[in-house]
Amino acid sequence: MWLLWRKQRWEPQFNHRHGFQAIRRTSYLSIMDLPIAPGSTILDQTPPEARRTIETWVAERGLPRYRAGQIIQRLWQHPMASWDAATELPAPLRGLLTETFPLPRLTADVIQRSSDGTRKYLWRLADGEAIESVMIPTGSRRTLCISSQSGCALGCVFCATGTMGFRRNLSASEIAGQVRELILEDAAAKPTNIVFMGMGEPLLNWPAVDRTLTILNHPNGFGIGARHITLSTVGILPGIEALAKRPEQFRLAISLHAPTKDQRRALMPIEKKYDLDAVMRAARAFARRVTFEYVLIAGKNDADADADRLAKMARPLGALVNLLPLHPGGDPQLMPSNAGRIRAFADRLRNQGIEAVVRRSRGLDISAACGQLTVEVDGKRRRFSPAAFDAAVGRSEDPTATSQPAAVPLSRSTSRAAPRRRVRSR
Ligand code: SF4
Repeated sequence: MWLLWRKQRWEPQFNHRHGFQAIRRTSYLSIMDLPIAPGSTILDQTPPEARRTIETWVAERGLPRYRAGQIIQRLWQHPMASWDAATELPAPLRGLLTETFPLPRLTADVIQRSSDGTRKYLWRLADGEAIESVMIPTGSRRTLCISSQSGCALGCVFCATGTMGFRRNLSASEIAGQVRELILEDAAAKPTNIVFMGMGEPLLNWPAVDRTLTILNHPNGFGIGARHITLSTVGILPGIEALAKRPEQFRLAISLHAPTKDQRRALMPIEKKYDLDAVMRAARAFARRVTFEYVLIAGKNDADADADRLAKMARPLGALVNLLPLHPGGDPQLMPSNAGRIRAFADRLRNQGIEAVVRRSRGLDISAACGQLTVEVDGKRRRFSPAAFDAAVGRSEDPTATSQPAAVPLSRSTSRAAPRRRVRSR
């Protein structure tokens, strides 16, 4: 009994009716009452891990070795909706694969199409949570903006996702699945560029994001060049360090949004945990060119003096500055800077030798801003939760920590039913 009492601890848990609540768990019981982990399928493994798993499985069944290569190709390189579609494999083998290696799918709940070609997807996950991706075609480039969490604990005031609160981390198969689903829809329209700028803070879900980066980039995965994959963060320092340790040239974008600590604190609660000075030190230590994301908000961060301060921060790093018009969905009292102010701000940066790009607003006739569609469809607008914030950033001290249950061995769970779709064009 004493042992049981000692193992008790309080943990935040999200409850659909009451939001976050502290609940008491016992360490071993908590393992048993957690839901089955998303993250336990073959699509959650990295391509090298999946190869080992499949090769062993093929060898154990006395199958010819070349079957392993055929099977692995069907995970990411030439994906299919179900093993039944892999007609190069004998039917009994397809049946065995269906039982042993189920291929999880995302359900396209809503698809919005903008007149400018932008497409927004609201994906429904197996447990009913919602996430979003946005496909932004520009000439021959097809940039897919993907989510790494459902909701977000960080509460940036200008962001629709920030109003939802944190729901849960995504597994690697759910993050990479956003790419896989689009390839299943049209292989010729495979994304050429990936940006982690959808829902969530990717560096607060580092274990799954780390795996996803490998899946996206590896030649046996989606084979997308590292320089075409950008991870955007508000400045989670342990995560930036972890990303810097990866040998590939993945790009880093830092959501700066303000040139002083006071201004940043008013827009982004994360400033209290990782302040501007610390974020700038991390950007210098990253040792590769970084991009600063800067959303222009009327009267908050768009004065000439703000441009001068921003130039002073960007110049020593040779940082590219992306200026973003404010999209709707966050605090309704915030107004976008007008076009003249945006031009003047950009010119002032350029006159001081900074490469500044004004990003065109895309998908304004649909709910393209991060989190906007989910809030509209699910009405998941909650107040910022300091407890959820503390729980999220507390975990960030150890970038390998995860809020998900540990991966369980590959199981024989059943495949999901064919995705249902609601298509909305505007
Ligand atoms: S901007 Fe990013 S980090 Fe901030 S609340 Fe939105 S999703 Fe979270």
